[in-house]
Amino acid sequence: MTRIFNFSAGPSMLPVPVLERAAAEMLDYEGSGMSVMEMSHRSKVYDKIIKDTEAKLREVMGIPENYKVLFLQGGATLQFAMVPMNLLVKSGKADYVVSGSFSGKAYKEAQKYGKISLAGTSKADNFNHIPKQEELTLDPEADYVHICHNNTIYGTTFKYIPETGNVPLVSDMSSCILSEPVDVSKFGLIYAGAQKNMGPAGLTVVIIREDLVGEPQPLTPVMMNYQEMVANDSMYNTPPTYAIYILGLVLDWVKDMGGLEGLKANNEKKANLLYDYLDSSKIFKTTVLKEDRSMMNVTFRTETPELDDAFVKEATAKGFSNLKGHRAVGGMRASIYNAMPVEGVQALVDFMKEFEAKHSEV
Ligand SMILES: *Cc1c(COP(=O)(O)O)cnc(C)c1O
Repeated sequence: MTRIFNFSAGPSMLPVPVLERAAAEMLDYEGSGMSVMEMSHRSKVYDKIIKDTEAKLREVMGIPENYKVLFLQGGATLQFAMVPMNLLVKSGKADYVVSGSFSGKAYKEAQKYGKISLAGTSKADNFNHIPKQEELTLDPEADYVHICHNNTIYGTTFKYIPETGNVPLVSDMSSCILSEPVDVSKFGLIYAGAQKNMGPAGLTVVIIREDLVGEPQPLTPVMMNYQEMVANDSMYNTPPTYAIYILGLVLDWVKDMGGLEGLKANNEKKANLLYDYLDSSKIFKTTVLKEDRSMMNVTFRTETPELDDAFVKEATAKGFSNLKGHRAVGGMRASIYNAMPVEGVQALVDFMKEFEAKHSEV
């Protein structure tokens, strides 16, 4: 068996101990005589799995009592519609910060459900930074403000939490959740697709402040109604049972890694290794402004698309997979989520140095 260093932006690497435990429990979960995949979601055994997973998430993230945790489907993308359908019920207005591709999609989708304003954007600079607080135009009457915390495609991240007064802040944390401690109480709602830092695809986690759970817009499907999902403990219908179980295993691993503080230290180490090298390299560079660099998705390029292609090809042959940048940006992207070990990033940097030496000789 060979495991390679997989720099995929998502679905992405899972911790080996998690995969090993899932494998060991595959045929017979804790003496139940069946796989978690085969269990009724209404069974006693499964009820314990989902409740324990929620409890572990609350513990690891320090989620306050007055927040509900939901295990949903449809990816982060369904939240682009679900958030406005449920929250645009007072003034019918919301402010969106567009700092990359996914926040642009969220902004566009929300327009179907109310009066949506652009609170700030870095589009003119090809999203190479995050708009600053003083650049945001915020409406005190808005039902919420929406941001995308970490821009998976462009490789930038919010290093500050926007101050929105009494207006609830909604954040798409798909590509940075569980990567470092976060003060949940600063947010009205946090959502994240699981397939980057939490588990397999198919599960979306929503953390919502209780007072925001209420009657949604009239045409909201029952499956997209937070109130209905809260009332049914995420089990109005069959939830993504196996993905929730894997999230539970990932959370055990997070605790073994020293919780979110431990992971933050590890993630900083990895990101520094890569950025320090990029800053010193003569052929590779990153186009993201230093103060907004993402710890999870590191975008970089060489001088020419041809050399980029040659790099990706050689890297792939050496066992560094999925380094090609998103088609919207070009160049390269190394996604170094929680499960990527420090050794993986070190090995990549060593390989980049070799590549640089070879290509600077001419
Ligand atoms: C991956 C990603 C999405 C899309 O997630 P899906 O689960 O595929 O819908 C949305 N937002 C961010 C920040 C992402 O990284």
